[in-house]
Amino acid sequence: MCGKNILVTGGSRGIGKATVLALARSGAQVAFTYNNNQSAAAEVLAEAEGAAGRVISLQACVQDYTQAKRVVEQVQEDIGDINALVLNAGITRDGMLAMMPEENWDDVIATNLKGIFNYTRASIYSMIRQRTGRIVCVSSVSGGRIGVIGQTNYGATKSAQIGFVKSLAKEVAPYGITVNAVAPGFIETDIWQMIPEGKRAGLLKGIPQGRLGKPEEVAAAIKFLLSEDASYITGTVLEIDGGLSA
Ligand code: NAP
Repeated sequence: MCGKNILVTGGSRGIGKATVLALARSGAQVAFTYNNNQSAAAEVLAEAEGAAGRVISLQACVQDYTQAKRVVEQVQEDIGDINALVLNAGITRDGMLAMMPEENWDDVIATNLKGIFNYTRASIYSMIRQRTGRIVCVSSVSGGRIGVIGQTNYGATKSAQIGFVKSLAKEVAPYGITVNAVAPGFIETDIWQMIPEGKRAGLLKGIPQGRLGKPEEVAAAIKFLLSEDASYITGTVLEIDGGLSA
């Protein structure tokens, strides 16, 4: 990863945080965004001290294209042209569709789906110009592979992300850019904690490996897809789910 400049959205917590740290420890210069949680972002910066690569953080809501453009310009100024993008920021607003408030639908679509358009659109020209680039989108087995009760909004965005990845992979393949998705199963982060306790036990039973995944296990797969070793892999979805979707 030495010499690579990588932008990670939603790097202050969970999978994003583990990815930022894994990339920085491998020598990449990493810029990450967060939404509200400034103290969590500061912790990531502190934990990254001593890593081989430099890490910077920027506050910006992924829902807003103007902010995405500002972030990309700032990153280019601070660390240089972006070589790779990890589209990670995402939220859940679970609930049965029959009772789902309209804002819970809109918020999830705006964050998980409009967010990936905003950051890809803002940085793709630079990768096309460089004739190289890597994009990894953090989708989910929920929606991406299986249905999960209470996640119609979330599942709709996660399957749409896979459609986005497959189409974009074909558009930019001639420019040496690869575009892939990872589809984590249930991973031990704040999102898992938001699932009601009673429901969590049932979900755990469905995982063949019998345990949750760790953010670091997802980060390792993202790092692989960003690496030179993955140069002939594009338009794919890699499940990291302990066998859940097998
Ligand atoms: P998390 O621990 O809740 O962290 C979410 C991250 O996204 C935080 O850095 C948060 O920033 C940021 N974020 C949220 N809304 C944002 C917005 N509007 N603008 C900018 N940043 C925003 O989540 P996670 O579990 O690591 O999930 C990361 C990704 O993995 C998501 O796309 C999620 O759908 C996917 N995923 C997770 C699981 C799982 O079981 N955890 C499974 C499959 C897929 P703040 O700290 O400022 O809030």
